[in-house]
Amino acid sequence: MLWRQTEALILGHTELGEADRIITLISPEYGKLKGAVRGSRNPKSRMCASTQPLTHAQVIFREKKNTDLHRISQCDIITPFTNLRGDLERLAGGLYIAELAAALTPMGEENRPLFQLLLWALNRLEAGAGVDKTLRIWEVRLLSLLGYGPELGVCVGCGKPVGAGGASLVPARGGLLCGGCLSQNGSGVPLSLGSLNFLRRALDLDIEKLGRLNLTQSSQHELKTAMRRYLTYQVNYDLHTYRFLDLLGGGPVA
Ligand SMILES: [Zn+2]
Repeated sequence: MLWRQTEALILGHTELGEADRIITLISPEYGKLKGAVRGSRNPKSRMCASTQPLTHAQVIFREKKNTDLHRISQCDIITPFTNLRGDLERLAGGLYIAELAAALTPMGEENRPLFQLLLWALNRLEAGAGVDKTLRIWEVRLLSLLGYGPELGVCVGCGKPVGAGGASLVPARGGLLCGGCLSQNGSGVPLSLGSLNFLRRALDLDIEKLGRLNLTQSSQHELKTAMRRYLTYQVNYDLHTYRFLDLLGGGPVA
C-alpha cells in the first residue's frame, strides 16, 4: 500500500456504516477513484465539510492494490465553491456536471485535460457565467475527451458535408444525418447550422477562450434537447440531476 497526495474534485458520496462515507472523486493523475473516509458523517469532523460533493480539495489517500476502494486519510478544501452552492440553478448545474463525470469516466485512468475541464466548468458557475452555455460546452468537450464525441463535420450516412440547412443528431449513429439519409433511418433531433457551429467551436477553442462563445436563444433550446438525448443514449439511464434541472428550468425539454 502506498500513500498518495493529489488535488481532486469531489463528485459525490455514499454512506458507509454509521459514521463513514465513501466518496467518488476525480484527480488529474489518478483519474476517477473511490475512497472511504472515516468519521466523515460526524458534523463535528473537519472531513464532514471537505468531503461534500463539488469541493475542490487536496487529498491524501492510501492506494490499495487490486481494489477500486482506497482509504482517504486527509481532505483539505482548496475551493469551496460557495457562490455555486448558494444559488439553486448553479447548484443544479454543478451537480449535473458531477453526475455526468461520475457516470462516463472510467475508474483509475489518468486524464489531466478532463480534470482541467471539470475545474473550468465549476469555476465558470462559481463566477456567475451562463449556466446553459457552460453545461453545453462541458457536455460536448467531456464526450470528446472520453471518446464518445458525436461526428459533427459530415453526415454519417452519406459522408457529405452538412450544408446551410443543418442536420439531425442521431444518438444511435454517433453523429449527424442529412435530410435525405434521415428519411431512411428514423428520427433525430434537428440542429441548425448555428447550433452545430457552437458545438464545433466549443471543441476547437482553447479552454481559456471558451467564455467568448455566444449561445443564442434558439440554439440553447435545440442543443439542450439534442445533447440530452445523445447523453442519455451514452449513459444508458436517465441522469438523476435532469429532474432537478427541469424543476428549476420550467419543465422537461421536448
Ligand atoms: Zn447523408
